Amino acid sequence: MATIQTATGPLDTAELGFTLMHEHVLVTDPAYRFQHPERWDREAQLENAVRRLREARAAGVRTMVDLTPIDLGRDAAFIRDAAAGSGMQIVVPTGFYYQIPFHYVGRPSEQLVAAMVTDIRDGIGNTGVRAGVIKCATEPAMHRMNERVLRASARAHRETGAPICTHTFPENRTGLEQIRVFKDEGVDLGRVVIGHSDDSNDIGYLESIIGAGAYCGMDRFGIQRPRTTAERAEMVVRLVERGYAERITLSHDASCYIDFFTEGVAEERIPEWRFTHIIEDVIPMLRERGVSEAAIQQMTVGNPRRIFEQTEPY
Ligand SMILES: [Zn+2]
Repeated sequence: MATIQTATGPLDTAELGFTLMHEHVLVTDPAYRFQHPERWDREAQLENAVRRLREARAAGVRTMVDLTPIDLGRDAAFIRDAAAGSGMQIVVPTGFYYQIPFHYVGRPSEQLVAAMVTDIRDGIGNTGVRAGVIKCATEPAMHRMNERVLRASARAHRETGAPICTHTFPENRTGLEQIRVFKDEGVDLGRVVIGHSDDSNDIGYLESIIGAGAYCGMDRFGIQRPRTTAERAEMVVRLVERGYAERITLSHDASCYIDFFTEGVAEERIPEWRFTHIIEDVIPMLRERGVSEAAIQQMTVGNPRRIFEQTEPY
């Protein structure tokens, strides 16, 4: 048993329940929001977020791990208010996307580490919200600056015990590059989720990730490219058949609001990209293909709990 930090305060891991391991409340370009405050209606956005999180709760989602990096507009106060308004338990992230933010380019890596450690130990700015997970990313390939961010993330992880969940570009097998850096930093790979693994159609690649001891985040359900929902589900079935249910997590990488698209376009073109797609559509598909209730429970409840129960720094 362990206690972790969420947007609305500490939570016993026994209370995590059905957990989506890679979602977003908001994904927004911070520079754009700064330049165009007139286009940002916080009240309307909060109402929308609360509505979408309530829908997810009504479908059976108890906990959501928000993995928005600082440089994609992580907004801890907004996440806290959306969690409080909806009753959704949300783990708040710290960490950076695959480009090192310009703020840190000319500063020592210790400052990157310190920024993440402060978010986790003391809280994010003056919000009173403490981060509970570390996000990092590699796309399209590992480069020098990216490696600096990954090494800093590994150090913040070891200093705080907060798990690492990544973004990858599986076409270039960047999950294995991340694993190489994490191993070099002495990271226990059983506390790492290699995200977007379901974008891959290469089961050998996924078995290498699992073989190294990490989790495969099958976390883009609903995005129909580069793989459809049926193809993503099929890969989960194959992995479960090979005995890997203990190393898989499920999620959508969806958002209450993302400013990368014109409003309404994503909802119209890919209606499956929503927080309830796994419960409503994917789990029935898995059952039909013979995946047991025990395996479904393992991937959606047991594994998230195990990942968050390893809270010791080392
Ligand atoms: Zn994401």
